[in-house]
Parts: sequence; C-alpha cells; structure tokens
Amino acid sequence: MDEAPDLKRRSFLLGRFRDATPPAGPPVAAIGPSCFALRGIACMSCRDTCSTGAVRFELALGGARPRIATDACTGCGDCIQGCPAGAIRISAPEAVA
Ligand code: SF4
Ligand code: SF4
Repeated sequence: MDEAPDLKRRSFLLGRFRDATPPAGPPVAAIGPSCFALRGIACMSCRDTCSTGAVRFELALGGARPRIATDACTGCGDCIQGCPAGAIRISAPEAVA
C-alpha cells in the first residue's frame, strides 16, 4: 500500500533537513591565482588597503606570498579595489584556498 501524501511530504522534508550542509561562516576575502605576488611580481597593494591587518605576507621562494587571516577579515571588500590583478573575491571561508 502506498504511503499517504502527507507522510511522503513529511519524509521528504525530514530527509532534506537531515542531509542539509551546515550554514557557511561569514564571507571573507580569497586570493586567486591571478595574483601578481603569487606569480613572482612584487605587489602588496591589498595589504596597504586592509584596515584590519588581515592580509599577511609570508616569505617564500620567489618572493612574498599573500595570505588572508580569516579570523581578522571582515569581508568588507576594500582590498578588491586595491588589487591591480583583480585577484580577490569575497567567498565563504570553505572556498578559501
Ligand atoms: S575584505 Fe576587508 S578585512 Fe578582509 S582582507 Fe579585504 S580589506 Fe581586509
Ligand atoms: S593586491 Fe592583488 S595582485 Fe597584489 S598581492 Fe594583493 S592579491 Fe596579489
């Protein structure tokens, strides 16, 4: 015998809630591969435009590489305007490379 329509709907909704991924945290800046510094070209404009100090540079072979300290980033987007390479996006923390 078939399940009653109300029970089918209830099962469907319960399944949807059970399988739902938890909500993402607040959006933060993420630096993509077009970043000049990641390609060996000296640039620190994003650090200069960030008022919270969330853009940090780490020494690496070939030059300093930028990294976003997600705990300090407010997702304000000010660094996007300062990036000559268009390498910065505001994304959910899980998407940060
Ligand atoms: S989004 Fe705002 S707080 Fe985050 S790195 Fe860019 S300028 Fe700094
Ligand atoms: S301003 Fe843009 S290109 Fe320059 S280091 Fe920051 S992310 Fe890279």
